[in-house]
Amino acid sequence: MNIEFAPDDWGLYVHIPFCRARCTYCDFNTVTHMGEDQHRQYLGAVAREWQSAKLPTGRLISVFFGGGTPSLVHPSLIAGFLGAVRDRIGPIEDVEITLESNPGTLDPNRLDAFRQAGVNRLSVGAQAMQEDHLKALNRIHGVEDIYSAVEFARQAKFSNLNLDAIYGLPNQTLNQWQETLSKLIELGPEHFSLYHLQVEEGTSMAIGVAQGGLHLPQEDIVADMADLALTMLNAAGYEPYEISNWARSGHESLHNQLYWTMNSYIGLGAGAHSFHNNRRWWNFRGVRRYMMMQGAGESTVEGEEQLSVSEQMREYMWLGLRRRAGISKDGFAIKFRRTVEDVFQVPLAKLVDLGLVVNGEHRIWLSHRGWEMANYVFRIFLDSGTG
Ligand code: SF4
Repeated sequence: MNIEFAPDDWGLYVHIPFCRARCTYCDFNTVTHMGEDQHRQYLGAVAREWQSAKLPTGRLISVFFGGGTPSLVHPSLIAGFLGAVRDRIGPIEDVEITLESNPGTLDPNRLDAFRQAGVNRLSVGAQAMQEDHLKALNRIHGVEDIYSAVEFARQAKFSNLNLDAIYGLPNQTLNQWQETLSKLIELGPEHFSLYHLQVEEGTSMAIGVAQGGLHLPQEDIVADMADLALTMLNAAGYEPYEISNWARSGHESLHNQLYWTMNSYIGLGAGAHSFHNNRRWWNFRGVRRYMMMQGAGESTVEGEEQLSVSEQMREYMWLGLRRRAGISKDGFAIKFRRTVEDVFQVPLAKLVDLGLVVNGEHRIWLSHRGWEMANYVFRIFLDSGTG
């Protein structure tokens, strides 16, 4: 089920850039050498940014603590920030409040405190269910920690749980991926995010691959892994509602969907991005710099761009097509006062001919083959003219 938001519904993203150790594949904006004092100082800076942020006028739908490892900071800091949100906009009991977590940082007391603070959705980075893969990725947890994290989360009354896993890992076999999926399915989360590993430049994994020490599975094996996920998760009652995301009905992540529908979001913290009124802006990435500038009352915005109408149309297409439901033709026409066929006549005809996109009466969506070649489809829209 894909949600249709009101145009002025919006989300809040809070970047928590702290980790205990860096995973080999990670190129996120994160630091591994800061302790509790700096966590406190940083959350103070985020609260100052929140107080001075110009907010959209609509309904706040979601608060998302992403990272980094938000579950590494003391729960009282998360509680304090959510208190500041309530102080400014009123009750947030109906808001989806997600905390990303690493299983190596969770215990019953911390989970209870996060839940008491108002967090109502927990995302657990499991990634794999084999010790050797977790070690090779430099994760700070083992397989047992994943089981404990889910058990503790349920005890703390989290009823909306996401598990993250990665396929296409170096030396990963199809059987191992099957084992990971079946063990994670047995844990019974409400939601899955399954990512195809992207080897990012500058990471230690990229160096290992370039030097020939790490071997990625072949393309056809990776395609089989994606198909296997589709088969196993469907059989277990999960629906794919976006390219990487699966949920039991009614547990689709609101936060993710706000991005794909081009609703507004305000990002707080080092390197965080915001989007409102077709303007995108982003903060400086450096954590110390961000704290210093906030402390001095200076703007932490590093850059901004105003999207032209053509850019908005292209983004509307590629972001909307990430969703299982695709894009609404009426929605496009209302937003841009032109029909989607008028604007994207040539690329649309080509993609329909190739069997990658289905052009229905009211909606346009990716075919099964289109999902497998989604990046190609997105590129066609991103590179196309808009007449
Ligand atoms: S825990 Fe997440 S954010 Fe931190 S280093 Fe690992 S992948 Fe990156």
